[in-house]
Amino acid sequence: MRLSLFVSGFFMHYKISKRAASLAPSLTLAIDSKAKQMKADGLDVVGFGAGEPDFDTPQHIKDAAAKALADGFTKYTPSSGIPELRQAIADKFKRENGLTYKPNQIIVSNGGKHSCYNVIIATCEDGDEVIIPAPYWLSYPEMVKLAGATPVILPTSDKTEFKVTPDQLRAAITPRTRLFVLNSPSNPTGSVYTPEEIKALGDVCVEKGVLIMSDEIYEHLLYDGAKHKSVASFSPAHFEHTIIVHGFAKAWSMTGWRLGFLAAPEPIAKAIDAVQSHSTSNPTSFAQKGALAALTGPQDHLPKWLAEYAKRRSYAHAKLNSIPGISCVNSKGAFYLFPNISKLGLKSTEFCARLLEQEKVAAVPGIAFGADDYLRISYATSLANIEKGLSRLENFCKGLAK
Ligand SMILES: *Cc1c(COP(=O)(O)O)cnc(C)c1O
Repeated sequence: MRLSLFVSGFFMHYKISKRAASLAPSLTLAIDSKAKQMKADGLDVVGFGAGEPDFDTPQHIKDAAAKALADGFTKYTPSSGIPELRQAIADKFKRENGLTYKPNQIIVSNGGKHSCYNVIIATCEDGDEVIIPAPYWLSYPEMVKLAGATPVILPTSDKTEFKVTPDQLRAAITPRTRLFVLNSPSNPTGSVYTPEEIKALGDVCVEKGVLIMSDEIYEHLLYDGAKHKSVASFSPAHFEHTIIVHGFAKAWSMTGWRLGFLAAPEPIAKAIDAVQSHSTSNPTSFAQKGALAALTGPQDHLPKWLAEYAKRRSYAHAKLNSIPGISCVNSKGAFYLFPNISKLGLKSTEFCARLLEQEKVAAVPGIAFGADDYLRISYATSLANIEKGLSRLENFCKGLAK
């Protein structure tokens, strides 16, 4: 693609690569920055757009990073992360998931997003296909395009709690299929596959020889007794077909730290290590010491956060369903609800633009996640905000019905 601009008295012709030009800008970040601008302008905006916890990083994690900084731990580290952190991550997989990884199968990266990108870049190329259930986390298809591969989207709806079936998956697999992207608990829907459902999807991938990228970053955020089981844990064959992507952003509220990790079969981990060593080198040295404290220190923040999220979720779920024209299945994980707005007669982008304009409520249009009949509501914000924002949404919907 060529971009011509008249600058400094002459025309410049900028060539943008096909891959970069193929990307859609991040719609969640766009809504978020518009809402932030309105707030900065003094407007009383209620934000449901956040994709991050509203809690602070626990103090002992900050202290560990601050100490590392004070101690001069400020130089390059091994590109895949410091050995003690990779060991602590391997220990976490053993303890919580019953999975045995050697530290050289663990790669620490600059965020869970970076881990996903590394996986896709290291395993996919021109002509390959990657199967992604929709609604999807919006970066997956864009990363696939950056790798030169083709996203193959499997649509789902609230009728099946946004879950794909093994038959749907099997029908989408071709000789070109490289990866199946599984994200449970899910962003944007909050839906959680049962262990049986996960196993059945894993069985199809094992049978067909398709790798699974399992994004388990919300593994600790579960409600109503929902259980998380990694697809890697069902058999040695499932283990060998799975790359687990994870990170510190959600369960430890460390979004700005930019630290994620992955666990992969050895040849894939080795390839990813090479990619990372030539692109970003190591994740931030002292941040890694904070992450080590996150994994090895107390976890007592989590039940408190979960109790708070659960209260907000109950309120928001009931309130959304009380609004004429909206229906919303309850989420079982993460911190999102994904209400259906199709009866209200507006496409999701226009719905959200008008909602922000008229009622000063920021929500993310479902189209950003490949599902135009819905909105994403994040309840990683105070109950008072949720009450205020949802009563404004109610107002807005009543106005539409007139
Ligand atoms: C937040 C998130 C990530 C990773 O975020 P980072 O800030 O890059 O660690 C990965 N996958 C999903 C589905 C997410 O919502």
